[in-house]
Amino acid sequence: MKIAIIGIGSVGSAVATAVKNTGLAHEIVLFDRDAVRARAAAEDLGHAAAFSFDVKITAANNYRAIRGAEIVIISAGANQKPGETRMDLLQKNAAVITDIIPRVMENVDAKNVKLVIVTNPLDVMVMLAQKLSKLPPARVIGTGTMLDSARLRVILSRNLGVSPMSVNAYVLGEHGDSSVVAWTPATIGAIGLEDFCRQTKTPLTQNTRATIEHRVHTAAYEIIRGRGATWDGIAGAVADLVRSIINDENRILTVSTVSGTGAKRVAISLPRVVGAGGAVKTLTPKMDKVESAGLRRSENIIRKNYGLIGK
Ligand code: NAD
Repeated sequence: MKIAIIGIGSVGSAVATAVKNTGLAHEIVLFDRDAVRARAAAEDLGHAAAFSFDVKITAANNYRAIRGAEIVIISAGANQKPGETRMDLLQKNAAVITDIIPRVMENVDAKNVKLVIVTNPLDVMVMLAQKLSKLPPARVIGTGTMLDSARLRVILSRNLGVSPMSVNAYVLGEHGDSSVVAWTPATIGAIGLEDFCRQTKTPLTQNTRATIEHRVHTAAYEIIRGRGATWDGIAGAVADLVRSIINDENRILTVSTVSGTGAKRVAISLPRVVGAGGAVKTLTPKMDKVESAGLRRSENIIRKNYGLIGK
């Protein structure tokens, strides 16, 4: 499969490496408005073909080069500087998405292409990309809270002494400060979280839960403070998402897609079945009153911010 990545900064180049290492792409096109940067990234990653997965990596500064791509990953745009929130990027990155999407759509097969949105503020960018592309919502997929859910699963797994692969727990809502840790539907293996804690005598007190939530919510800020940007975690999330699409795995992933119309239109992360057709089904887990209210708050924040870009 041919895959294009638009925006080859810290995130785009880590995504290119992670996608290459899935072994599922035969060609990856790297596009950046900075042609020198895209060419250098393609050279560097291309050399890794001698070690594993001989994938054709090309650089492009012309959108015609993405013709034939079935998945287009958008990771272009400003990133957070230390102390900035994702919403501080709103106007700048709305302009970037408005620049990119029409050019992408002129060069891909609209009947088949899947857009994967990574640019922040994620949910608002998904709404904008879906509107501009006119693609069905199922095929404009934001990585959403995949990364937040991964952070939760890893932190929780260390507390409970099990593999993160056995932790089924979601962060839902906005990929941003209002994201919601959904404790109620969490299971370890197929055992409810509280039952698991009782049986293994590893109590999760309210304090521990609050600390875990805090760590999930502040992870990006901590990483940005330490290394200027985040890229490894999101690259893992994108590769996982791409794998589920290409292999038609129908995995349940917390991605962000548009639902509703008119005043109810919003993109938000919920558990969704992701396969060859994109995010084809949406699931609503059981949540308590506080979690449900948190989700509604997230929706309102995303809608309000979408309103601010005037589209
Ligand atoms: P970066 O500054 O390192 O790279 C951005 C790249 O985009 C640059 O190479 C730039 O030349 C390119 N670009 C900008 N405007 C463009 C345009 N109109 N057309 C083509 N290319 C363009 O930034 P980064 O650290 O790679 O972050 C990229 C985006 O990913 C940011 O919005 C960041 O917030 C987001 N991000 C999202 C998640 C997530 O979980 N969704 C995680 C990390 C980062």
